[in-house]
Amino acid sequence: GKVDIPQAKFRASRTVRGALWSWAMPIEHEGPRLVSVSESGVALIGLTRETFLKDTRAAAEVWSGNLRLPGSFPWAHCYGGHQFGIWADQLGDGRAISLGEVDGPGQRGHGGRWEIQLKGAGRTPYSRFGDGYAVRRSSIREYLAAEHLHALGIPTTRSLALVFTERLVEREQTELGAIVTRLAPSWIRFGSFELPASRNDYKLVKDLADYTIRHHYPEIAAQQKNDDDKEKKDNSFASAGDLCEESKYAVLLRKVTQRTAKMVAQWQAYGFCHGVMNTDNMSVLGLTIDYGPFAFLDAYDPGFICNHSDTAGRYAFNEQPRVALWNLMRLANPLARLIDSEAVANNDPLKDDDSQRSELKPGTIQVVTDILNQFGAQFKQEYAQTMRRKFGLLATEESQDLPDVVQPFLDLLEHAKTDYTFAMRALCNAPSMVKGSLSGNSNSSNRQLEDLADSLVERSLAFSCASDSSEWKARVIEFFQNVYLPRLSREMMGSVDAQDDEFASEHCARMKAENPKYVLRNWAAQEIIERAERGDEAAVDRALELLTKYAFADNLPDHLAEYERYAGPVPKWGEGLQCSCSS
Ligand code: AMP
Ligand code: MG
Ligand code: MG
Repeated sequence: GKVDIPQAKFRASRTVRGALWSWAMPIEHEGPRLVSVSESGVALIGLTRETFLKDTRAAAEVWSGNLRLPGSFPWAHCYGGHQFGIWADQLGDGRAISLGEVDGPGQRGHGGRWEIQLKGAGRTPYSRFGDGYAVRRSSIREYLAAEHLHALGIPTTRSLALVFTERLVEREQTELGAIVTRLAPSWIRFGSFELPASRNDYKLVKDLADYTIRHHYPEIAAQQKNDDDKEKKDNSFASAGDLCEESKYAVLLRKVTQRTAKMVAQWQAYGFCHGVMNTDNMSVLGLTIDYGPFAFLDAYDPGFICNHSDTAGRYAFNEQPRVALWNLMRLANPLARLIDSEAVANNDPLKDDDSQRSELKPGTIQVVTDILNQFGAQFKQEYAQTMRRKFGLLATEESQDLPDVVQPFLDLLEHAKTDYTFAMRALCNAPSMVKGSLSGNSNSSNRQLEDLADSLVERSLAFSCASDSSEWKARVIEFFQNVYLPRLSREMMGSVDAQDDEFASEHCARMKAENPKYVLRNWAAQEIIERAERGDEAAVDRALELLTKYAFADNLPDHLAEYERYAGPVPKWGEGLQCSCSS
């Protein structure tokens, strides 16, 4: 039914203490239009695309927030955060409104539970100076990116639908509005813990940690219960308040650390630059969250900064692992207090007195430091594993693959400013060269290698003004002949029957499934946005299909043929394109 709760009451921005959410109502939007629906996004909550397309007007009313679903009592989440290294105090969902939670299909706990959120549906108590709206360009980017990263295998929040409205939104210029419906098992952020801790409200920090464990890390609660049962059984051996038993909050921190390391390793492997890694944009589930000025690398440039406002390069591409760890330290602070109070029997963790502000116990500091110290190794292991798969080193592990094979190749790309996605995809031609030389046909192998090196030269910015590429090309050929092909050959001999005619093409196919041909490049996103603004709104839906179903495909179906160009060279106007935070 129509929303009938008085709206004005919810509009004023305010400081909220002692709670982590407030009621929030979407505002009514003029002329909502359903622009795109994600097939795999809606499947998460047991719906089909067809359900939406059957009545697009009703769908637009629901997913703009104009019509409230039965049983939905929308809210906004209150959190804080460090922005560019500085504590920003209360932030919260300023333009995201959660409609409710829905169980996925299948048995509860298997299909998962999804929190459905509208982004851009109007002001909330946390809007501060913002208007609560989102413009079309940034909504298209977020809508596509979330589904695309998922298709690439990178942990992320998801998109369900994209709605355009006729609302005029004031930015640098007046623009038209849009609303993205997005899904995640939870939108709890590092900053969700930081905010109550900054106010010394450890009762709320504990409630949030317990909630997070109960709903999102149930295995921790189960483990604790096992330990408790065991302790009861072995009662004669266990002493009360046994310090050896690990605090569940320490386990929580370790799991968040592991998931974050995994996520950032995937970013680095696919050339994804987030752009605004503030602690309010870090999910406690290790999901990519909040798509703003993000970009995929075109030319391989480790120092690339995608956020126009990030003049110091705090969130440059190669800084991401370090920043993730810095952010984890911010999360570790509030959790350390909980770990500390668990470590000492009879200490009331919630007593809001001076003892709260006292120093942490050395044991607690040790526990937390040990967990954070593992981040580097976890990141490196995950990154090495992913890069190994991308290089086709799928079965055999050699400990020096990262320094001996991966890094020298990246150094070559960096030197010539070669397109990263193109170069990685080009590696997929290597298995057939290996096969050629194994079967004594080294002439054809050499010719293939020559062609591959030429194609890399063509996609290198360093040689775009006719500067001499011959020395670099020779180094590329040398790398393949002396390093990569011998290593790949060991791998292929070890894992397949070399007599089988198909073995090279099968290996190539497996590598192609790790190295996308299409990623959401900034210039492609920009073109799709401009098309949609000129009236070709179906361009967004087609782009979604390209980026989810065909990201790894060699060939595109006819209706997507126009997007073939997005695997090709970056046009001059699109080189090093940066976005700002304005959205
Ligand atoms: P972000 O940089 O996108 O992570 O946003 C930082 C904070 O600003 C979050 O609390 C957002 O909810 C809030 N915010 C950003 N844009 C708007 C807007 N147009 N209206 C209200 N709040 C906003
Ligand atoms: Mg944010
Ligand atoms: Mg944002």
